[in-house]
Amino acid sequence: MTASPSINTAEANALASQTAAEIEYIVISRHNQMLANRDGEVADYIPELAKVPADQFGLAVASKTGQIFSAGDAQATFTIQSVSKVYTFAMLLELVGREEVYDLVGVQPSSDPFNTITLDPRTNRPFNPMVNAGAIAVCGRLRQLLGPSAFDEVLKLFSRAAGRPLEVDEKVFESERETGHRNRAIGHLLRAAGVYDLPVDEVLDVYFRQCSIKVNAIDLAVMGATLANLGVNPRNGEDLFGLDAVRDTLSVMFTCGMYDGAGDWASRVGLPAKSGVGGGIMAVVNRQIGIGVFSPRLDEAGNSVRGKMCCIGLSEALGLHAFDAANPGSSFLKGLAKPA
Ligand code: GLN
Repeated sequence: MTASPSINTAEANALASQTAAEIEYIVISRHNQMLANRDGEVADYIPELAKVPADQFGLAVASKTGQIFSAGDAQATFTIQSVSKVYTFAMLLELVGREEVYDLVGVQPSSDPFNTITLDPRTNRPFNPMVNAGAIAVCGRLRQLLGPSAFDEVLKLFSRAAGRPLEVDEKVFESERETGHRNRAIGHLLRAAGVYDLPVDEVLDVYFRQCSIKVNAIDLAVMGATLANLGVNPRNGEDLFGLDAVRDTLSVMFTCGMYDGAGDWASRVGLPAKSGVGGGIMAVVNRQIGIGVFSPRLDEAGNSVRGKMCCIGLSEALGLHAFDAANPGSSFLKGLAKPA
């Protein structure tokens, strides 16, 4: 049997005794490696998204000790889109607990595209909260529980997780509201299935707004680091999610976060992650770091091409894959815990 380690142990060992400059180097070099890649297409089914400059590319890593390492357009803003589903799911888990949430939405990967207009035939509920049907069901429950201020609460929570006040991109919101007929169809399907008893437009208003929140790659890294750091934002110390909500959220990200590309992602990257059609990907290394990437060209599953390549590159270089035998990722944690 030939051993074929996928981990660059030299780099990973360097990180065990790293300085901030060395980590910065890894982040910058992975970004540089993917810079020439122009594969994929910018999402255009939401007309306003088609106007996004396709070449933008930012990468950021935030550690559980609150350090940030970034490269490229890490401060360029884009709409969070489906990455938002992670935090509304965690928010609902916090509000009503696991049993009630699991009655509302499954945690079963589906091999259908994210916008498929179907429910799990066994349960008459959405397959999981990472596809649109599941996220809209979560939104419906939040709207029911929190009333007209539901979106304000969502925005507040997202801002606390990012560590700065976030805003909605009103143009993207309007654009999606005008053209979101598939999501409207899903909304009606859910209402017909008894998932909620609210006007569909009230629910979709929250959903379209949450998808239109503007973030940058650093925000996604910090939001990811908040999950990595057991629900506490490492930058501002805000305690946002309990351990159960973090565990359940990371689990469903791992199995369902990358849609029909989830299996390939799990084996190549080995990290819980969530993508959005705005070009963002957020990945989490449990107890260690959050990764945020932004590059708008998407593959067929709707995942950022360069974002995915960057995550593969970082996972290999730093040994971050959940099932890496050598697991130098834990050395990475020790390194980061050291004072600079
Ligand atoms: N707002 C988008 C939609 O509902 C989100 C999809 C995504 O990011 N995959 O179609």
